[in-house]
Amino acid sequence: MRIAAVETSVLSLPFTMGGPHPLFAGRRWDRMEILLVKVETEDGLIGWGESFGHAAIPATKAALDAIVAPLVLGRNAADLNTLQREMLHALHLLGRNGPFVYAYAGIEIALWDLLGKRVGLPVWRLLGGAERSPMDAYASLLNYTDLGLVAANTAAACAAGYRSIKLHETTRAAVLAAQRAPGAQDAAIMLDVNCAWSPPVAREMAASLAGDGLAWLEEPVWPPEDVHGLVSVRRAGVPISAGENVAGLYGFKALLEAGAIDVAQPSVTKIGGITEMVKIIQLCQAHGVTVAPHSPYFGPGFIATLHVIAALIERPLVEVLWLDMEANPFDPWVRPVNGKLAVPGGPGLGCDPDPAVLARYTVGTPTRTSRKEGA
Ligand SMILES: [Mg+2]
Repeated sequence: MRIAAVETSVLSLPFTMGGPHPLFAGRRWDRMEILLVKVETEDGLIGWGESFGHAAIPATKAALDAIVAPLVLGRNAADLNTLQREMLHALHLLGRNGPFVYAYAGIEIALWDLLGKRVGLPVWRLLGGAERSPMDAYASLLNYTDLGLVAANTAAACAAGYRSIKLHETTRAAVLAAQRAPGAQDAAIMLDVNCAWSPPVAREMAASLAGDGLAWLEEPVWPPEDVHGLVSVRRAGVPISAGENVAGLYGFKALLEAGAIDVAQPSVTKIGGITEMVKIIQLCQAHGVTVAPHSPYFGPGFIATLHVIAALIERPLVEVLWLDMEANPFDPWVRPVNGKLAVPGGPGLGCDPDPAVLARYTVGTPTRTSRKEGA
């Protein structure tokens, strides 16, 4: 069945985070946004996808509306492998990573939703998975800097049932504050520094953290493609994770062949969608490297991550941002219960958005590219 229309819209969802809201891309960050991608086929079936996200939304939406959506109109919605190869090739002069690949990821996720709906099976079943019990999640805390807030939010996350907590901080003091927080004695603590350091500083920091029992140190090196910088930091003995800023399968191939990481973190809304994600997970598994996907989002991209993890990963660990959202059209699937998340069992992603919540939180008017207009 052919793709007849693509519609993009932005949802803006108010949230609280257990501390003051930071500035992000020059403005107060008190809304989480979802770049929602709706794909319709000629027979009226609808699939939902999500493209990354956060500060990239204006650029990714422009890429979708102006170039990527017109390119997929009229294509067979079920021909996922050919579409992926041809689209990523067609777009490569616009970048192998960034808004154009994010844009295609949103469409690709919607195509898996459509495929599952058409055959009446959940995506995890299409990927060869079996039914499984709710999966462990980890609380991914936002940046507080204030050690008291780091400790208070770590304690609150432990009290909410999480056994793994990730900090977005850059000091050893923050790690110690989290480890000493009430209820955190048995919790795994991870530290994500978002590429804060040059390799020499990262090596020094990793050496100072080596005795602290961190479950992983995430993206210690700037720039993220400095594979050999990561290898040098990893020698300190702290497990290293990375991957949310890697360009596709071949970016991961370089990391794995260099022995740069212990934990791989592909991101389904950034990497190009579910098809690319599956290839990366299988490559990591062949190298004996753990996969813990990057998923700090709240829409179909997050739900797609649940399906992929449920089908392919032996011991899943789902990244969930630690915040409280006023409402979400994908409730209840995006809210962990006692630190665990269930994967929907309905056809496709099994989780169409609540129209009333969409109507309330959509910003502006959705942009529709249809076959008639794009022909
Ligand atoms: Mg990260």
